[in-house]
Amino acid sequence: MNRRRLMQLVGAGALTARQSSAEEQVARATRATPSPKIKDVQVIATAPVGLRLVVVKVITDQDGLYGYGCGTFTQRADLVVPAVEKYLRPFLIGKNADRIDDLWQAMYNSSYWRNGPVLNNAISGVDQALWDIKGRQAGMPVYQLLGGKCREAVDCYGHASGADIPDVIENAKGFMARGFRHVRVQVGVPGMAGYGSGRGDVKVEKLHDAPVFEPEAYLKRAVKLFEACRKELGDEVELLHDVHERISPIQAVRLAKDLEKFRLFFLEDPLSPEDIAWFRHIRQQCTTPIAMGELFNSPHEWTPLIQERLIDYIRIHVTQAGGLTPCRKIAAMGELMGVKTAWHGPGDVSPVGHAANIALDLVAYNFGIQESYNFPDRVKEVFSGCPELKNGYYYASESPGWGIEVNEAAAKKYPFGSGERGERQQLNGGWGEVRRRDGTIIKQ
Ligand code: MG
Repeated sequence: MNRRRLMQLVGAGALTARQSSAEEQVARATRATPSPKIKDVQVIATAPVGLRLVVVKVITDQDGLYGYGCGTFTQRADLVVPAVEKYLRPFLIGKNADRIDDLWQAMYNSSYWRNGPVLNNAISGVDQALWDIKGRQAGMPVYQLLGGKCREAVDCYGHASGADIPDVIENAKGFMARGFRHVRVQVGVPGMAGYGSGRGDVKVEKLHDAPVFEPEAYLKRAVKLFEACRKELGDEVELLHDVHERISPIQAVRLAKDLEKFRLFFLEDPLSPEDIAWFRHIRQQCTTPIAMGELFNSPHEWTPLIQERLIDYIRIHVTQAGGLTPCRKIAAMGELMGVKTAWHGPGDVSPVGHAANIALDLVAYNFGIQESYNFPDRVKEVFSGCPELKNGYYYASESPGWGIEVNEAAAKKYPFGSGERGERQQLNGGWGEVRRRDGTIIKQ
């Protein structure tokens, strides 16, 4: 082939045109997916059933592209609002919304002092909203962005409680009849302010007017509860129990040993965060599986427990650790150390926060169990697309992002303080005190 023919076939002009067309295509593709910039950061504060929920809405400069994140710290909810509005909002406006880890690190370091509950919740609200935005951009649920499902649905536990042991057992049977394979059981101690249960009409002698709790009375009652539960509910159902850190460290070691024969799924929060060095002693004494972490805010709390394999389930309240971004790393660390996940999931997590829990549950190989919450109608009025709970399993929404939309007009109908009664309203959503007979404050 001579040169003239070659030039005819290739054509210097045509080659230039092809090159230029490729460059245009790249430019067009780049123009089609420019980084969305953060245009506004707003807070939705609502209490559809009394519990104060904080949701952050991040709005981008792209038409209709926004996302929601949970920043709920219900006992100090009013403080999270200015943490977002006065500090994170001006820090974030104009920044690229698609650099999630980078923005998380920037927000985390921007206060210099860090790892506190208010600031971590504010960061979480933004962090989860950025994941929602990325999911909406991709047209995928967030669990797909995280690698996709490791399981079809998320096994949950329900809360069975009562003032007396037969009430708890009836309640547990109700959960089992609805398909739950895991049930947390809590019983009241007569006259005392037990965690997660009624107290009955008994009067207890005390030197003060506050609710009373005595650890020894609770410990005896807890062992009796498990004797009755195994007798009445059988060996198949998985039983869980929350101590709520109300006893001394050595009492916690004793309780874990005393309950070993009842083969619990897990014993939750036997120690307070201040006493985490005692987990080593529980581990050395018995094989009762231990769950810990809903009060954790700092890597200094969860890192040693996971690293030394001193717990079996890490049970962080995702927003208290700063959102989805840090918690997916905690889950990965747990997988390497044989520690499973059991993210905190009561009513004082917004439906957006529950959706984030479920995304983590679906994608983590080392998922353990998920605490469930049956969303009341008023919550569904404000949040459409709440995760579905069926036969003791949570199912994730298949819509992009979290699959949740917030009806802001409905949210405004339920301001903070609405639906709250008595002390809780007086304390602006905070918790009251519980004391021993002599007046000593107990941890709760
Ligand atoms: Mg708990």
